[in-house]
Amino acid sequence: MRENDPILDAVFGRTSLVTEVFQPMRVLLVASEATPFAKTGGLADVAGALPGGLARLGCDVTLVIPAYREVFSKGLVIEPTEMTFDVPIGTRRLTARVLRGRLPGSQATVFLVANDDCFDRPTLYGGAEDYPDNAERFIFFSRAALEIGGRQDRPFDIIHCHDWQTGLVPAYQKLLYQSWPMLSQARTVMTIHNMAYQGLFWHWDMLLTGLDWKYFNWQQMEYYGQLNLLKTGLVFADAISTVSPTYAREIQQEPGGCGLEGVLASRSDVLTGIVNGIDTTVWDPQTDPHIPRPYSAADFDDGKYAARVALAARLGHAAPDARPLVALVGRLVEQKGIELVIELLGRMGGSGRAHFVILGTGNNGTEEALRRAAASFPGTIDVVVGFDEGLAHLVQAAADITLVPSRFEPCGLTQLYALRYGTIPVVRATGGLVDTIVDTTPETLRNGSASGFVFEAFDALALEHALTRALDAHSNRELWQGLVRQVMAQDWSWETSGREYLHLFERTRQAPPVAIK
Ligand code: ADP
Repeated sequence: MRENDPILDAVFGRTSLVTEVFQPMRVLLVASEATPFAKTGGLADVAGALPGGLARLGCDVTLVIPAYREVFSKGLVIEPTEMTFDVPIGTRRLTARVLRGRLPGSQATVFLVANDDCFDRPTLYGGAEDYPDNAERFIFFSRAALEIGGRQDRPFDIIHCHDWQTGLVPAYQKLLYQSWPMLSQARTVMTIHNMAYQGLFWHWDMLLTGLDWKYFNWQQMEYYGQLNLLKTGLVFADAISTVSPTYAREIQQEPGGCGLEGVLASRSDVLTGIVNGIDTTVWDPQTDPHIPRPYSAADFDDGKYAARVALAARLGHAAPDARPLVALVGRLVEQKGIELVIELLGRMGGSGRAHFVILGTGNNGTEEALRRAAASFPGTIDVVVGFDEGLAHLVQAAADITLVPSRFEPCGLTQLYALRYGTIPVVRATGGLVDTIVDTTPETLRNGSASGFVFEAFDALALEHALTRALDAHSNRELWQGLVRQVMAQDWSWETSGREYLHLFERTRQAPPVAIK
């Protein structure tokens, strides 16, 4: 369970001190996806909710994202602005048209960078294969984001960048935009959501960045002969954060650092881990429009049963199964431990102990293996291949148990959504799962900290053992109901995480910028 920061509590608990201690902070948040505009994963949830969390703490936040085709299909208000400019990309110039939107329920302004050649495409980053011009697309986006920030009427204190797609922003701010008054005094913070995706491109893409070849060296932008955009961000940013304290430690070593452990260890003095919050305006069983009957900790039995009936109908079953419902929602990729799940289904599908529902998208191999498992145990295993936000909410509400058996997990959001919906997570002890889920033991039940079932070894037997412990606990109605009530009472909202970001921003603002050779 996370703890509040006593200093910040004192500061924020007394409004008069807010102005005395902190100047109102201006933040330019640059991300490649943000809910509700465009989403492929947890990054979008964070970039869509953090601005609101920061705004509630007194920050003035401007969010910049690309204007993908997807953003126009959500019924959101998106308007043109007068702003348009050219961005040099190698020897060409690409035109950016700037659109404006609003994050629902927040004061933050959203600017969307439009260029149809770059962003009017069916998906954000490509399909089975990445788009071949992703370097060019995100070099263009990174520079356009700074051009937008530079055209605002008040200077920014912090430029907050997320993942490899924005890795060039800290370098551009230091090397090309020092004469821009709205940007020059800002400090840059690079947040890592996943070290496994680094934006590695062939060396000639260095020409597209417009930066001097002298930066293409092993200590700055180069990685074994290639251009590495995440590494660039980690080297040039004034501070680095990632999405949980455990992951912050893991990435300073092999294999968590995915080759950049040395870079991260060398910057450990400015590296922090802050657990993601969840957007409780979107994920709340008391107000969720995707579930048939709202519920709280007081009446979750009825609410979850209604969700099960709806889910059964959606999956083509005449009635809900009486067995415990075990769910998994997520990307069906190696990181998420899908190979363990495939093995688990083979071992437990015939046991009659549970009904399994899996919702996700992945590569053809994993999707096919899961479909085969479903075909082997009809009525016991349902697999839905696809990305369906509404169904993800319904599954979380209907399930008793959710599986997060990740090989590695920077933070993980599905276990936090599960807690809020009274669904008990079974997780592997890695990254943010360590920081958010407490194993159920007689002692943790007694002291009220139990929130799930945790296993250590990355193998299917360990997963099966943890799930069996969960199913055994489920059969003790009184124990289970107590556990559900306990986890539903936990607060994982942006309130606490937003304060930690503010603390980080304040520290970074007061420190000198990183020296660049
Ligand atoms: P990651 O960012 O590594 O994919 P997270 O757990 O941090 O993992 O976030 C995943 C987010 O994407 C959650 O909001 C989850 O509900 C959502 N999600 C993943 N797969 C699907 C899917 N197939 N349909 C709907 N939502 C999904």
